[in-house]
Amino acid sequence: MSVDQPEPANVRPRDRARVTEPEKHVFYFGDGESEGAGLGKERLGGKGSGLAEMTALGIPVPPGFTIDTTVCAEFSRTGSLDSVRPEVDESLSKVEKSTGRKFGDPRNPLLVSVRSGARSSMPGMMDTILNLGLTRAALEGLAASAGERFALDCRRRFLQMYSDIVLEIPRAEFEEFLTRRREERGVKSDSELSAEDLRWLVERYEEVVRKHGATFPDDPREQLWGAIGAVFKSWDNPRAKTYRRLHHIPEEWGTAVNVQAMVFGNRGERSATGVAFTRNPATGERQFYGEYLPNAQGEDVVAGIRTPHPLRSDGSGTSLEETMPDAYAELLRVRDLVEKSFRDMQDLEFTIEEGRVYLLQTRNGKRTGFAAVRIATDMVAEGLIREEEAVTRVEPEQLVQLLAPVFPLADKEAAIKAGRLLAKGLPAGPGAACGRIAFTARRAVEMAAKGDPVVLVRVETSPEDIAGMNAAVGILTTRGGITSHASVVARGMGKTCVVGAGEITVDEERRELSARGLSAKEGDFLSVDGTAGEVVLGQLPTQPSEILRVLIDRSLSPNESPLFAAFNHLLEWADRVRRLGVRANADTPNDARVSVLFGAEGIGLCRTEHMFFGENRISAVRQMIVADNVTDRRAALAKLLPIQREDFIGIFREMGERPVTIRLLDPPLHEFLPHEDDAVRRTAQDLGIPAEKLRERVRALAESNPMLGHRGCRLGITYPEIYEMQVRAIFEAAAAARREGLRPRPEVMIPLVGTKGEFEILKVLVDETARRVSQETGDEISYHVGTMIEIPRAALRAAEIAENCDFFSFGTNDLTQMTYGYSRDDAASFLPAYIEAGILPDDPFATIDQPGVGELVAIATKRGREAKPGLKVGVCGEHGGDPRSIGFFHEVGLDYVSCSPFRVAVARLAAAHAALSGAAGLSSTA
Ligand code: PEP
Ligand code: MG
Repeated sequence: MSVDQPEPANVRPRDRARVTEPEKHVFYFGDGESEGAGLGKERLGGKGSGLAEMTALGIPVPPGFTIDTTVCAEFSRTGSLDSVRPEVDESLSKVEKSTGRKFGDPRNPLLVSVRSGARSSMPGMMDTILNLGLTRAALEGLAASAGERFALDCRRRFLQMYSDIVLEIPRAEFEEFLTRRREERGVKSDSELSAEDLRWLVERYEEVVRKHGATFPDDPREQLWGAIGAVFKSWDNPRAKTYRRLHHIPEEWGTAVNVQAMVFGNRGERSATGVAFTRNPATGERQFYGEYLPNAQGEDVVAGIRTPHPLRSDGSGTSLEETMPDAYAELLRVRDLVEKSFRDMQDLEFTIEEGRVYLLQTRNGKRTGFAAVRIATDMVAEGLIREEEAVTRVEPEQLVQLLAPVFPLADKEAAIKAGRLLAKGLPAGPGAACGRIAFTARRAVEMAAKGDPVVLVRVETSPEDIAGMNAAVGILTTRGGITSHASVVARGMGKTCVVGAGEITVDEERRELSARGLSAKEGDFLSVDGTAGEVVLGQLPTQPSEILRVLIDRSLSPNESPLFAAFNHLLEWADRVRRLGVRANADTPNDARVSVLFGAEGIGLCRTEHMFFGENRISAVRQMIVADNVTDRRAALAKLLPIQREDFIGIFREMGERPVTIRLLDPPLHEFLPHEDDAVRRTAQDLGIPAEKLRERVRALAESNPMLGHRGCRLGITYPEIYEMQVRAIFEAAAAARREGLRPRPEVMIPLVGTKGEFEILKVLVDETARRVSQETGDEISYHVGTMIEIPRAALRAAEIAENCDFFSFGTNDLTQMTYGYSRDDAASFLPAYIEAGILPDDPFATIDQPGVGELVAIATKRGREAKPGLKVGVCGEHGGDPRSIGFFHEVGLDYVSCSPFRVAVARLAAAHAALSGAAGLSSTA
């Protein structure tokens, strides 16, 4: 869905019938005749399809033809274009007839452009040649009709483009002469060079070609075939390949080639070139939006040497509306036609040649998340599209932009221009945050307590840093990938976060960081843009997200925010079509509250260990860990029991009747102990034990790879009293919630199960504890006991594990690391190289590896459900919030996904996309 947008409305069955003759590969357009109308982007590419449709709509388009995308594959296989020669000749003569000009004619030459145009736009990745057909003889003809300077300018541009793209002579050799001439003449832009200068350049360019032993063809047809071949070939140039890999565009699509009569926006003051959007691409407002340059060619707009003027009148007197009102009116007419026909916001390229408007391109316009939501919902209100279609018009990931605080763009750009960009890392938690630097979690808490906004800067974070992360407005790490601890926690908290900013060196001792010749100390201001991954030195202002002001802080009423209304409508429509349930990963009552506000239907993962790090808890947790015997351990656990119980009551209160999956303790115990000597000494003092004893305990618990060690259910088996306390807390909390009139639905989840035995022993422990609490309180609580599937063995042995199990929840973070054998904590050191080399298509910790890890998910789901009909199956790894992975989970038939509260909206929309792109059911279940 992301790369292929809907086809326009004017795909008429009549056209389809007319154009689907099997052999046809070249499609003419011009003077209202459009052979390719209705064929769509798949055959004609985006540009070709747009030109065909516009022509059919009666919009003025210079005549031309499109060679379809199927020819690209054939050409790369055979290296020959012979099969399309007769069709090209036929279409070319139609273009000559339509323009009244002849290809290569010395008096009235036809010039054409030869451009690529893939099914999905790949801006600037493939090649374009302009002014083709400008032979030596034609040069004289053009000079006579359009002026010498103009003709020479076209010729030197043509020589350079063609030599670069077809003859493969480095562009720089031509540029050198151009720069030299500009310097000799003391001028800044090419447009200030005289006819004489340009003639000199044309001669030098011809010499460059000769020097390379090449012959510049002077036959227009030879030029044309050379150019068509080169443009097809550019589909396979390295930059296009990289772009396709990054944007998941299939290799086999191929590009089309468009050959079109040239029109000139640089033919004097009544000529111009420009771009327009049918609606505002930043905000989505329904206003014609764009800019133009008088007496200029497309390249001049892109080069940014001259500042373009607005289309709509702004009182400056330079707008197109004011300077060329007729052309402006024509563009408004075009705007209406394309919007009605394509039923989406269009991005138009146009040229005005001596007062006449020509459209050169229309395509679905790129837009921000804000604009996407607004345009989709407005178009439903205008009757242009249906609600289901509106749902597909917004990329799930775009919703993240609507929730994040932002830096006003102008301020950020000014700071970057002033050289304050410190580094670029991975965008891990969206939004903008600005605060004073703290290098340790403890300092972050202290500084925040004084009322300062803090950005916590760490090489990497660990669970010990949780309080500091919580106190900070933004988090920056120099190591780590997007499932690193920092990223997962930051996203869960909805915090701005940049990870893996490797350019930055942190000197924790001296409390200093440095990069790119800049440095900053503790307390200095740092601005972190977690949407772009940018880290800027100093202070930038931020603006809070409007959606959060309505939904969470209630500082804005829903009626005051049209953006909120649009966001809400869109998600309601999404809920109507999705089949997958959406839950949240939430560890605290506040997370639970936010999750419900975002529309979560339950909690899919409550990581109980996160509760252990609070001020009044960690010391009891540590007492429990250092205890030498069960009695002492139970004494420490007794202190934790009421605290955990209160946490769960708080969560049950927020969740009401919604299911709450609580995972029993998972991380290895050493994560709760200090490691640095200073901290060990301080903690030992707090605990009233000799430092040496604590040190020894730390040593004993140390693991070479903690991710595979003494954690998860292994803790529950070896220290059953820990799980017993947690289960007791859950059921006592549920009983208390019941007495408040609530109907809590706890689901106890056992982590890291690999064998049936592990699950069975712990299931007995849960049932027994539940029974005891029920006897004590007199409350019967209905509950479920399930397991995480995060070890490959568990996925394979799913049938036997499922027998006594109520639900499976795939912990795809661990399942990914164990399937690949990559540690999720340090895979960032080689994953980028793997992706670069094409070994992996994506970071498997961000997007599920469908063939490998995904197959385990599919196998376990099937085997589990066969053994236990009605087994509920969900996913609670980071992939539960990733739109592409959600599409896969929908396909394999999971019941729900669970993700961070701040991604619930993204998941709701992605689940709807998944349902709409398959033939799947249309009703939503929790
Ligand atoms: C997982 O492994 O996918 C999971 C959800 O558990 P955690 O990330 O806490 O290990
Ligand atoms: Mg896990």
